Amino acid sequence: MKSYINYSYLSKNIIKSIYFFINTGVLLTLPLITSSCQTGLYTTSTSWTPNTGSLQYPLHDYQIIQEFGNRTSSGRYHAAEDALGAPGTPVYAIADGEISYSGQMNGYGWLIIIDHPDLEVHSLYGHLSTRRFKVTEGFVVKGQLISYLADDDEDGSGGAYPNWGPHLHFGIRQGMKEDYPSTGDSRWTAGHTYSYPSTLGWIAPSEFIK
Ligand SMILES: [Zn+2]
Repeated sequence: MKSYINYSYLSKNIIKSIYFFINTGVLLTLPLITSSCQTGLYTTSTSWTPNTGSLQYPLHDYQIIQEFGNRTSSGRYHAAEDALGAPGTPVYAIADGEISYSGQMNGYGWLIIIDHPDLEVHSLYGHLSTRRFKVTEGFVVKGQLISYLADDDEDGSGGAYPNWGPHLHFGIRQGMKEDYPSTGDSRWTAGHTYSYPSTLGWIAPSEFIK
C-alpha cells in the first residue's frame, strides 16, 4: 500500500480520517498516519468503538483473490476486494441497511448497493447473478440473503480480466450511495479508480470487517 501513497493527498486525507474516526471509530489510513503522526491524536478519541458484532462478511466461505488498492494492468486501482466463490454461492448483507441500488450494471452483471446510515457507509456487491433470486428494494438485516454469485455468462467476470472465474466484487465506502456522482472517477458504480481509492472514500473491506 505504501508504494501507492500520493503525499499531495495526505493532509486532506488526515482531516477526512479524523472526521471519519470521530464518527465511526474506524481509522481509514492507519498505515499512513501511525508512521508519521504518533502524536496521541487518535488515542484520545476512544469514547466510541465500532461494534464489529454488527458486521459480517458477505460470503460464508471465501478466499480473497484481489485485494483493495491493487493496481491492475489498466493502471487503475482496485476500489474493493474480490472474493472467490462458485456460481450460485449465496451473498449476505454485511449489516442492517436499505437497498439503494439493485439492478443490472455494465461490467457487474447484477449490482446491489446497501446504505448503512448507522455506520455512515454503504456496501457494494458486484458480479451477482441476473437469473437467480435477488433482493431489489427495501430494508435488509445483517446476514440476510440478498443474491447469488453469477455464472460467467451473466458477467460473473470469469470471462475477462482478471479471469479468475466468478467472484464477488465487494466494496465499502464512506457516506451513502446518493452522496456520489454518476460519472467520473468518484462515481458510485466505480470498481477501479485512477486516484487511490481511499482518497475517494473507499475503505478496505477486510479492515472494516474484522
Ligand atoms: Zn473487483
